[in-house]
Amino acid sequence: MKNFKFVSRIIAVIIVIAVTAVLAVIAADNRIKIPVLMYHVIDEKAGTLSNLYVKTSEFERQMQYLSEQGYTPVHFAAPGAYEGIKKPVIITFDDGYEDNYTNAYPILEEYGFKATIFIITAKIGKPEHLNTEQIKEMSDLIEFGSHTVNHNKLSALTLGQIRGELAFSQKTLEKLTGKTVRTLAYPYGAYDRRVVDIARKYYDFAVTTVGGVYTEGSDRVKISRVYIPRSFTINNFAARLNAVSSGK
Ligand SMILES: [Zn+2]
Repeated sequence: MKNFKFVSRIIAVIIVIAVTAVLAVIAADNRIKIPVLMYHVIDEKAGTLSNLYVKTSEFERQMQYLSEQGYTPVHFAAPGAYEGIKKPVIITFDDGYEDNYTNAYPILEEYGFKATIFIITAKIGKPEHLNTEQIKEMSDLIEFGSHTVNHNKLSALTLGQIRGELAFSQKTLEKLTGKTVRTLAYPYGAYDRRVVDIARKYYDFAVTTVGGVYTEGSDRVKISRVYIPRSFTINNFAARLNAVSSGK
């Protein structure tokens, strides 16, 4: 009986030490946090889904803010690649709208900012969408990722259809840009376990529409983003960016 008490005391002490160690590791989590900004259309005028539109003038102020605050826009990269880079941030656009070329790209060029555009490959060259020439011209600063072929909810498709959407769009973009296509954005942010498993096979990174910061080393096919709505003033933008950068 004495022995039993002794052993249980030892076990209790070990548990306390282990819990303390785990808490210390959590507190000292200094993995790099990278805000991934999510845009769609950049235009002064808003269309029907007005929340997907950010004013060109407001976008310009936001880019100016990033520049003034010493942020470094980067592309998606393997853990460790951002070591020594000052305040990395990733700028993304979904759907491949033509205004990304006419309105956003000149501003990105002015600041020398890198960005990522997720293309719906069936829409290339269609009205209001980027064409092949525009995509080629922007590939100095822009990394092109897949937003699938047809922009369907992947979680509603069969395994074969999911594979087709992910593989064919990747092939199309690789042919067009001559570069490896490593990133994917789930249409409508919709995914399930099957989608994630297939994404992991074909892509290095996949982004969601879940709000939050991307912490280096977290699941690379479930990356959270920071949605920038049309209603944001520059103060809202700054506050949101500061909040996510500090892990909120
Ligand atoms: Zn989309």
